Amino acid sequence: MAIERTFSIIKPDAVKRDLIGKICSRFETNGLRIVAMRMVHMSRREAEGFYAVHRERPFFKSLCDYMTSGPSLVMILEGEDAIAHNRKLMGATDPAKADKETIRADFGESLERNSVHGSDAPATAATEIAWFFAASDIHSAR
Ligand code: UDP
Ligand code: MG
Repeated sequence: MAIERTFSIIKPDAVKRDLIGKICSRFETNGLRIVAMRMVHMSRREAEGFYAVHRERPFFKSLCDYMTSGPSLVMILEGEDAIAHNRKLMGATDPAKADKETIRADFGESLERNSVHGSDAPATAATEIAWFFAASDIHSAR
């Protein structure tokens, strides 16, 4: 396994309920180090661009409404096998179907308002990181 970087969002439903600390703690106690982070209230353009792969899906408009409804925390996580490891910590897209003790099972409100985003592959991780961060925002040395 290699050290990877993945892109993560603590979505508006979780920021609204003051779950930032609890969710970041899941990452930090499970070998995913936060190497960049920023709070952002996404514009419609940012949300639509970020989720462009879903633009033909029936849930696209509602998803973009939700993602622009309040601030999110965008971050880069670094660690062994970070992309798959983060997806495992997050759990399935639908919190009702997510494994016990995953972030979405514990904190997600619904299929849409599922508290976190995580990249699903190396290519998407690279694109998503570049969507929100410059190389100079990333600090992996400690
Ligand atoms: N989503 C939704 N309805 C659906 C599927 C997805 O509202 O039927 C939302 C949900 O917030 C999800 C996001 O769209 O996290 C992106 O969907 P994707 O299939 O990429 O799921 P993820 O990779 O986030 O698990
Ligand atoms: Mg996805």
